[in-house]
Amino acid sequence: MMPAEPPALHAPVRLKLDSDALVSNWRALAKKSGSALCGAAVKADGYGLGARAVVKRLAAEGCKDFFVAHWREAEKISDLVPSEQISVLNGLTAVDTVAARKIGAVPVLNTKEQIATWKAAGGGRCHVMLDTGINRLGIGPEQLSSELLDGLDIDILMSHLASADEDSEQNERQRVLFGEMSAGIDCKRMSLANSAGIMLGTGYHFDLTRPGLSLYGGIARPEMEGVISPVVSIEARVLQVRSLQANDPVGYNATFECPSDMPVATIALGYADGYLRAFSNNGCAKFDGKALPVIGRVSMDLVTLDASLAPDLREGDWVSIDYDLEGASETSGLSQYELLTGLGDRFDRIWE
Ligand SMILES: *Cc1c(COP(=O)(O)O)cnc(C)c1O
Repeated sequence: MMPAEPPALHAPVRLKLDSDALVSNWRALAKKSGSALCGAAVKADGYGLGARAVVKRLAAEGCKDFFVAHWREAEKISDLVPSEQISVLNGLTAVDTVAARKIGAVPVLNTKEQIATWKAAGGGRCHVMLDTGINRLGIGPEQLSSELLDGLDIDILMSHLASADEDSEQNERQRVLFGEMSAGIDCKRMSLANSAGIMLGTGYHFDLTRPGLSLYGGIARPEMEGVISPVVSIEARVLQVRSLQANDPVGYNATFECPSDMPVATIALGYADGYLRAFSNNGCAKFDGKALPVIGRVSMDLVTLDASLAPDLREGDWVSIDYDLEGASETSGLSQYELLTGLGDRFDRIWE
């Protein structure tokens, strides 16, 4: 007789990921982009959700421009879409050119050196990043000359906004400078706006927009409230429920002391999963609609909850974690970006 298959190993922590919300967010951002096409930033493994799952769903909706940061990230999705639809934001070194040819994704050239490297490797379709004031990556106004870009086959000429999530004068300065710097440069398309930039209006849309955060439910600007839906929710299994007594300490360094006799639940989530220590004595979970505040310190693999309001809670139950991105950002002091990209690889990622 064949031995029975061992049961599949399920993780005690899971991300529930809402396919419809992801797709409707992309559609909403595409609509707000007006006549510009709408791409998708899927770097950092699709902001922690899983780049392959995200790319499959958005490609099926008609998205044709995917942005990653690293070549390895390009390779991981290169069987899912035509390779010229993948752009690598962080540029390339001479060593990368071999992989670049093999993968076929398009480099974003950020520096004189990268331009020379690309030309020396034989050139071909590329994108160019102009730095209009974020002063991070790209060709600055003082470096730009007509010879520099001569002979390049430029698809997307792009720049990146530094403060699109604020009503800052820097937005308009960058938009104007982008227009000035691009004058006379031969390219197929121009692109400036990230998620927040899309909401700044038509003048920021050019030919293509590049949202990331808001695809995944992030509220990059207040105007997105009601337009963008949450995509990610976190659930964790209860590993133990204990009845503690008044004055009992909880967790590392005893940062919580029970004010009275109370049930305390320990769940299978920790900072190694991206639920960082900022949620110590601060975050909250729910069971059956009842609030279970985080008490004590978040540790690597465990979080302790005050289960006073859920006397029925038992070992093996699942609780949901309060992870509404705006609220959790306020509670923890972490950005919505950090809350997403920190989600680790111990979760079962379940797309519904
Ligand atoms: C990450 C990134 C984006 C997406 O930004 P969001 O704020 O997440 O929408 C767009 N363009 C570039 C160059 C990026 O690095």
